[in-house]
Amino acid sequence: MENELSKSNIPKAKRILITGAAGFLGSHLCDRFIAEGYQVIGMDNLITGDLANIEHLFSRENFEFYHHDVSKFVHIPGDLDYILHFASPASPIDYLKIPIQTLKVGSLGTHNLLGLARAKNARMLIASTSEVYGDPNVNPQPEEYWGNVNPVGPRGVYDEAKRFQEAITMAYHTFHGVETRIVRIFNTYGPRMRLNDGRVLPAFIGQALRGEDLTIFGDGSQTRSFCYVDDLVEGIYRLLHSDYSQPMNIGNPDEITIKQFCEEIIKLTGTTQKIVYHNLPQDDPKQRRPNIEKAQSILGWEPKVNRAEGLKLTYAYFQSLSQESLAKIEHKDFASYNK
Ligand code: NAD
Ligand code: UDP
Repeated sequence: MENELSKSNIPKAKRILITGAAGFLGSHLCDRFIAEGYQVIGMDNLITGDLANIEHLFSRENFEFYHHDVSKFVHIPGDLDYILHFASPASPIDYLKIPIQTLKVGSLGTHNLLGLARAKNARMLIASTSEVYGDPNVNPQPEEYWGNVNPVGPRGVYDEAKRFQEAITMAYHTFHGVETRIVRIFNTYGPRMRLNDGRVLPAFIGQALRGEDLTIFGDGSQTRSFCYVDDLVEGIYRLLHSDYSQPMNIGNPDEITIKQFCEEIIKLTGTTQKIVYHNLPQDDPKQRRPNIEKAQSILGWEPKVNRAEGLKLTYAYFQSLSQESLAKIEHKDFASYNK
């Protein structure tokens, strides 16, 4: 009897739904919330994700997985405390290949999940992006900047889906009182990125590992600011538990040109291949760097892992992959992307 009573006094673990769980960021978030003692429900349709990223979680009692497309009605039995909506193609090559699914998961998918959050009285955090700023005229980008986006260009399917996602999330917050959080994620990297997703870091490291030339798009003077995945996850964890419902930038403000970045990868990998230059894809942002003053003052957050450290960890991951997965790159995708 005493045992029964003391069992019922144990607080129930919080239940969290993570969409895009089999992807790069979703899988790291699953790891973090499992480690914090949450009951984690992963959901993914595997369109750009890989079960290998969460294979190690299937034996855990506090993890379950639904193979489901969130652009269709989402049902989760039982209570739900939090939703992290990370499902969406995220690399320019992916969203060029599957533009309609990209629009749907950002719009219909977000609507479905907000409906679920409302029904369950759950707090929902959405993964927005620095792409809402488009090709920015202001550098660094503060959250107040409205952006410079071409809605009908190749990146429009992603950028506008994410802008709609922010708008509908804010509307559910304002009109239905749903507890919402919006993180604007800047270029993040780390283990479990897909080697053939076309993003610049897996592209360069994959080329070095396969003994191919490294492809810079344009003259390499465009800039990006790369954040290591553990830092991002910490920022998201803090934002979710804060009471801040306006959009918040999370990223590493250490800005670098793509040419310098390529040279760092050449040094890191020791490749003897040369750099080759291709056309710059349409609407490729010329500069990108987060203003993180809000994250610093409201969450007490700032990135801790510098690029040298983060790149070493990421390179070790790619080196550990089999020869078979190294060969997976689809060259035809590069050819159609930057013509
Ligand atoms: P990813 O492609 O590795 O992961 C996305 C996951 O979502 C994949 O597992 C994919 O299968 C899944 N998915 C896509 N459509 C789905 C659908 N309709 N239903 C269910 N699952 C679906 O990409 P990522 O880098 O992990 O990005 C995750 C999220 O973070 C995305 O929303 C992306 O826009 C956002 N984001 C990422 C970055 C970054 O630098 N990695 C930057 C800004 C924003
Ligand atoms: N890029 C490049 N070579 C590649 C892949 C990408 O020079 O093989 C450039 C791309 O044109 C962009 C930057 O690297 O300027 C970052 O591209 P990514 O696709 O990683 O993300 P983005 O920040 O553009 O969404």
